[in-house]
Amino acid sequence: MQYAETLPLADHEVVLTFDDGPLPRYSNQILEILASQCVKATFFTIGRQAQASPEGVRKLRDAGHTIGTHTQNHPLSMNRMKIERARQEIDEGIASVKAALGDDADKSLAPFFRFPGLLRADGVEGYLAEQGIQVWSTDFLADDWHPISAWRVYDLAMRRLEAKGKGILLVHDIHARTVAALPRILNEFKARGYHIVHVVPATADQPPTPTEPQQWRLHSPPENVATARWGEISNVAIADNRELPAPSLSDFDLRGERPIAMAKAVDGTRPAEVRFPQVSETAPENTAIALPVPAQAIFEIPDGLRSAMSYIAPNSRHLKQAGSSAHEARTKPARAHHPVRGRAHLARRPAQGRRGSASVAGRASAPAATSHRSPQVKKRNV
Ligand SMILES: [Zn+2]
Repeated sequence: MQYAETLPLADHEVVLTFDDGPLPRYSNQILEILASQCVKATFFTIGRQAQASPEGVRKLRDAGHTIGTHTQNHPLSMNRMKIERARQEIDEGIASVKAALGDDADKSLAPFFRFPGLLRADGVEGYLAEQGIQVWSTDFLADDWHPISAWRVYDLAMRRLEAKGKGILLVHDIHARTVAALPRILNEFKARGYHIVHVVPATADQPPTPTEPQQWRLHSPPENVATARWGEISNVAIADNRELPAPSLSDFDLRGERPIAMAKAVDGTRPAEVRFPQVSETAPENTAIALPVPAQAIFEIPDGLRSAMSYIAPNSRHLKQAGSSAHEARTKPARAHHPVRGRAHLARRPAQGRRGSASVAGRASAPAATSHRSPQVKKRNV
């Protein structure tokens, strides 16, 4: 939602992310639902929550999900807080989650981070990049932190996904409404042919998924644009960088004339003369040929038409009125059609399907995910 790049997902690929846990009461139910559908997700955990429920963090790991961090205290001010304080929030958050994970923390904690409230700042992102931590945003939300119904959460998730055709969904594992909406969301994903992609940090065993830079771009060029299929140009060498000779005046076709003077001479005076090409002195041929005079008969008005004109002339006012109502009669149906056409457009939009909607959404304020992709990620369908 904030960056020019997002995950390099294919059409109909979705990444599930859950923020702000673990909160066993809801996180455990989320884990069960995900397990029932054989789906893996990414959890952006809060350090404070990890301290309160270290067992909850280990459950995420044991279930094979990806664990990232989301600060220690979830401050909604990282876009304006001092960098030292922001660093502390990040570092403490990571330390708390690692403490919960125990010995294999380095292996099981992904270098993925999401700003609380997505409230980013350049300086903080710089710090995260130095640490080799990848910043995640999201492509769409389901507003599940608002007091809305589970049905509404489901509805927003589906509408927004359909508008984009792919992307990262951000929901929370700390709300009952999310727990209630999730089974239906997953069922509908499946019914509509979406695939859940599990993102994991690349390792020696799992090398980065090969991607082209444009796949990370939010607005990657369509397939029918040649650059979409061109690889990176590398190691270009200029074999010959000789300078070409400067052209001489004789290279220009001036036909012996001096160049047209500048509009204003350097000393500020007007040039005395501006020479334009000479007018040709060749006389045009056949100047004596004249067209024949039109015959008188051409201007004659037939008797029937003459009487018709004499009838119309005195009634020109009526004629005018008749004309305008005729005009109205012609334009009215067209105007009446406008609402119909408008509705037709609206009605056709969903029917146009993902492709059309996706391009519109992409052009608007489409979200993004990762500004720093220094640690390459591996994706696989689950
Ligand atoms: Zn959050």
